[in-house]
Amino acid sequence: MPDFKYVVVGGGMTGHAAAMGIRSVDASAPVLLVGEEPVGPYVRPPLTKGLWTGQEEGSIWLPSVEGIQLRTGTRVVAIDRAERRIGLEGGETIGYERLLLATGGTPRRLPFDGDGVVYYRTVADFRRVRALPAGTHVAIVGGGFIGSEIAASLATAGYRVTLVFPEEGIGARLFPRDLAVHLNGYYAEREVEVRAGERVTGLVARGSGFTLRTDRDEIQADLVVAGLGIVPNDRLAGEAGLEVDDGILVDETLRTSDPAIFAAGDVARFLNPALGARIRVEHEDNANRMGREAGRAMAGADVAYRHLPFFYSDLFDLGYEAVGVLDPRLEVVAEWKEPYRRGIVYYVANGRVRGVLTWGVFGKMDSARALIAEPGPHDPESLRGRIPD
Ligand SMILES: Cc1cc2nc3c(=O)[nH]c(=O)nc-3n(C[C@H](O)[C@H](O)[C@H](O)COP(=O)(O)OP(=O)(O)OC[C@H]3O[C@@H](n4cnc5c(N)ncnc54)[C@H](O)[C@@H]3O)c2cc1C
Repeated sequence: MPDFKYVVVGGGMTGHAAAMGIRSVDASAPVLLVGEEPVGPYVRPPLTKGLWTGQEEGSIWLPSVEGIQLRTGTRVVAIDRAERRIGLEGGETIGYERLLLATGGTPRRLPFDGDGVVYYRTVADFRRVRALPAGTHVAIVGGGFIGSEIAASLATAGYRVTLVFPEEGIGARLFPRDLAVHLNGYYAEREVEVRAGERVTGLVARGSGFTLRTDRDEIQADLVVAGLGIVPNDRLAGEAGLEVDDGILVDETLRTSDPAIFAAGDVARFLNPALGARIRVEHEDNANRMGREAGRAMAGADVAYRHLPFFYSDLFDLGYEAVGVLDPRLEVVAEWKEPYRRGIVYYVANGRVRGVLTWGVFGKMDSARALIAEPGPHDPESLRGRIPD
């Protein structure tokens, strides 16, 4: 007999959504949610946004789900698939009938001893930075999703910010070159010291602060925050013999290669029919939807996860939504109503739209998904006005 009919590993947004999904189908069976963080589930996006501009920390906590047992501060270290039991750090084991792996990702680290660096992901990281008064000099390493958001928020909140990254422009891995380079100037006008094209090579603790070495210079800062992307937490699954490939592989019912074990959220790699490719998505829409669907599937509902998740970000007073593949190496078709303030950017490969960025334009994600699902062919002419703002 299992201890719990349903066990969810990972107390993030995906794990929480899964618990709700289970409850929407099965009103009473025992559910255990095990999470390594010392706190219960919360929403992560405000950690780089609203919490720096007046939103209360109390607003991030997700509501408890009826009848779900929550174990925080507990790391799952093994899965015994034959016995259907998980092993916890410390030796305890717990039986399951259906298991969900919603273990998310771990921030990528600097390629040298970066002790003292805040690899920004959790509410604990937020509290660590927040404990420093406005005016403190924070060096942020990485000009991608997390780095660009936290730089804008800290500058808005009155911190002294240096943003250092090896690419030519902010968000260069997502945005067309001209937009990324424009953002460098936009940040500089808002008091961020932007050090584009500069690679961090070392770090030395210095009194209460740090000296950050780069391939060009040295930066003295009170604190170093890094946003270098994440590595999916798929080791537990791999060690249990589940199929993994930069994430845990799932089918459209969100089952792994073991039908009693499901995976969802940042850690899961799934086939998206519109893109015709296996993708892993590290964003909120996917965490919520895929988590919920995985929970429903665990409880016996018919599930076919074909959703193409969107994502969004806020950078000072700029904002965007995006869906699909945002790779500036593809053919990029940009239609600006107001340069770098309001416009639509299409990413095209082999005559098909693979991704859409709506900059300063919101609520167009369904139109963008429909376009991505179209067989094409698309070219700059046929795309003009396809997503009206
Ligand atoms: C600062 C920040 C801002 C963001 N802003 C946006 C945004 O603006 N828009 C957007 O679309 N997305 C945003 N995201 C992304 C979004 O928050 C993530 O996609 C989402 O949180 C992923 O949820 P998850 O539950 O799959 O993974 P995670 O959030 O990583 O949660 C996984 C949990 O599992 C736990 N865990 C891992 N291994 C084990 C184990 N072995 N045993 C027990 N527990 C374990 C971890 O401790 C963690 O709590 C942001 C992310 C961050 C970090």
